[in-house]
Amino acid sequence: MRPLSAGASLVSVAERSSALDALERERFDLAIVGGGITGAGLARDAALRGLSVALLESEDFAAGTSSRSSKLIHGGLRYLALGEVGLVRESALERKVIFRLAPHLAERRWMVLPVRSRAALLKFRAAITAYEKLGAVERDDLHQNWGSEELERFEPALDRSEWRFACAYREYLTDDARLVLANLRAAAGLGARALNWAPVTGIQLENGRASGVTVRCRLTGREARVQAGCVVNAAGAWVDALRRLEDPAAPGLLHLSKGVHVGVPAARLPIRNLLLLSTDDRRGIFALRRDEIVFIGTTDTSYRHGAELWPRVSRADVEYLLAPLQHYLADGKLEPEDVRTAWAGLRPLVAEPGKPPTDISRKDEILVGPAGVVTVAGGKLTGYRPMAQRTLERVAEVLGRALPEEREGPPLPGGDFAGELAPLAAALAAGRAIGATCAQRLARLYGSEAEQVLRLGAESLAPGAPVVTGEVDWAVRHEAAATVEDVLYRRTRVALFEPDARGAVAPGIARRMAELLGWSAEKAAEELARAEARLRADLDFSDQPT
Ligand code: FAD
Repeated sequence: MRPLSAGASLVSVAERSSALDALERERFDLAIVGGGITGAGLARDAALRGLSVALLESEDFAAGTSSRSSKLIHGGLRYLALGEVGLVRESALERKVIFRLAPHLAERRWMVLPVRSRAALLKFRAAITAYEKLGAVERDDLHQNWGSEELERFEPALDRSEWRFACAYREYLTDDARLVLANLRAAAGLGARALNWAPVTGIQLENGRASGVTVRCRLTGREARVQAGCVVNAAGAWVDALRRLEDPAAPGLLHLSKGVHVGVPAARLPIRNLLLLSTDDRRGIFALRRDEIVFIGTTDTSYRHGAELWPRVSRADVEYLLAPLQHYLADGKLEPEDVRTAWAGLRPLVAEPGKPPTDISRKDEILVGPAGVVTVAGGKLTGYRPMAQRTLERVAEVLGRALPEEREGPPLPGGDFAGELAPLAAALAAGRAIGATCAQRLARLYGSEAEQVLRLGAESLAPGAPVVTGEVDWAVRHEAAATVEDVLYRRTRVALFEPDARGAVAPGIARRMAELLGWSAEKAAEELARAEARLRADLDFSDQPT
């Protein structure tokens, strides 16, 4: 097998003991708490600048918000209306950088805004033109105005008797959890040590200054002390809990907002692009085609139950997301029973008392606590790199030394290819008995590394499922997967995007993991049962408070 394209493998279950030894033995410049996109992006940037880095994640990598987002690398056109020009510009420019670093994780897509009149189209064009200037959008990517002829060609399911025009502009679709993994592997390739299933349970102090963290390995039960010159709290929805480990009197920073997505089969909702829709309460939501599934999102409601890993999706959430579709598509009346996948995440917004969640800024905030712990809160997936740069400015102050300039660095693992997914997918399918859908899916998930994944096993994990056995081996050997849920939800993304396969492949995943990790039959059965319960819970919309 050729060496991994860039970056290194993450610590596998078999290597955990020696990884814990190394974590205890070494002294790091930086200990990062939280393995979502904020922590992962920071780990890569810090490692690129020569810092030694340890990253600890209490669950699986990306198990929090960074696997539940809308998965758009976008400038956030909506925020122009809120006057957040700086944030919009930064995000719009970032799209190009992420595309250069990982083209498989930044797929260009048309966002289609249907309008009823030419006047409405002209009004929107003014905003989109400003947006494109801010983002220095390339000529090929500039917006297009569609009339009924283009709508018939490009988005035929839209009800053209009602929606006679549309403005189509470009944004990028990513895969949030895989972007996290790619950043972590890039960091690991530069010497960073990252461990999942390892909650930080305490901040160590020396003369009142943070000098490291205490961590507990959930797979081995072992405790370890990790020494570091600076500790960064990148715990997303949990940053307030971490802040209180440093200072029990620290006031709460966050306002948590729940965002729900639901997936319906494309056969039931045959759109082709990303359609922007307006809800009855005049919020913008979207429906987005991704292969054979269309996902619709998102809600934005204050969440008062504290930071939870699996916020529940209620029937009211589902009905709210499905209701607008009937105004846009002739056959758009969908019922909660049509929903085949669903996920909810918590936005860790920096509280602005008195404002509803939709109006709260998505800007990040970085603070240094009384013992020198640097907390990074808020922000967006799209802005993870600039956020890491700003965080490192504060880290440098705490470390008391200047750091080298930020640099873009080499492509992320899997990102070293010309940028188009179609040729990559065609090369994967050539001479193999995998279908076009499977090849396209593998290209999108693994980029240039898909070939290596296939060499580990190209058989389908269940009859007809576009998921191959090699993916389990890859996840366990290179991406630190330790549970069936890790593979279903955050490596293969089957739980979110493959409604027909999600239940069918779970037993095959458990079987192969048992072989690779030496699980007993009992342990494999337990693992499978836990993952299946999770899959069922996703679609239990029995009413409950939001
Ligand atoms: P997280 O991903 O939650 O990571 C924090 C991690 O810290 C978690 O994995 C958690 O387990 C870990 N942790 C907690 N406590 C401890 C501890 N004691 N020890 C160790 N680890 C700990 N942004 C975009 O740019 N585009 C979008 O399309 C978009 N859509 C969104 C849609 C929704 C519904 C939501 C909710 C958000 C969306 N966002 C989007 C925002 C984006 O997803 C978040 O800003 C981002 O994922 C937050 O990442 P994070 O790393 O800060 O938090």
